[in-house]
Amino acid sequence: MARAGDRDPWAALRAEIEACRACPRLVTWREQVAHTRRAAYRDQVYWGRPVPGFGDPRARVVLVGLAPAAHGGNRTGRIFTGDRSGDWLFAALWRAGFADRPTSVARDDGLALTDAYVTAAVRCAPPRNRPDAAERERCRPYLVRELRLLRRRRVVVALGGLAWAAVWAALEEAGLARAPRPRPPFAHGAEVPAGTVTVLGCYHPSQQNTFTGRLTPAMLDAVLARARALADAPAAGALSAAATPSPRPRRPRRSR
Ligand code: SF4
Repeated sequence: MARAGDRDPWAALRAEIEACRACPRLVTWREQVAHTRRAAYRDQVYWGRPVPGFGDPRARVVLVGLAPAAHGGNRTGRIFTGDRSGDWLFAALWRAGFADRPTSVARDDGLALTDAYVTAAVRCAPPRNRPDAAERERCRPYLVRELRLLRRRRVVVALGGLAWAAVWAALEEAGLARAPRPRPPFAHGAEVPAGTVTVLGCYHPSQQNTFTGRLTPAMLDAVLARARALADAPAAGALSAAATPSPRPRRPRRSR
């Protein structure tokens, strides 16, 4: 007979996330948005709950955003699904060979990722897309647990400055990496090897960045190509000392 301890850890984590009500402000907001809805989605039943990560549990590349969008993930129940940011991200994942289609519209659309896992620093849609510091900290253990479960992780792509900070904090809390001191600042194209993983910085594919040309498809493609190359590279232990890359952060673009 199966015991509670035998439960699939992914299923257990997912259930725990979806039931979480630890942040009163975010619980109120996500449910209020789900109740009022946007006019274009008035005929839909919003998810209105925390949104777990999505993708290949054997992924070597992990992408971390900030939080679900009020009418995107908070509506569909899947991260980066049903909003313009997701359109950008999943189209790029498809071009890079991580997704089996270029669109992500609903939880049951059949989309599958290979070697990539997409998640967020915070699981509930926040007002003005801004979770506060206490909410970010409260939600971090879920990212820590995901990173531990993703045993083949080699590359973590942080989408934006808040995700960058959350990734470093979670990697350290998970005991998977130690951030260089001082902690490297976020920048698009930043690349920081840290133990068994490399952390890459990428501008968030928000409309604020994509409408203004701050983030272009070519820039996103370049980050994913680099993530793929790093994931395919021999493990550090397999390299000769002479061939081991220097732990030097690369910052081709200025942070903001
Ligand atoms: S943000 Fe995270 S910790 Fe807060 S209620 Fe949502 S799932 Fe729970």
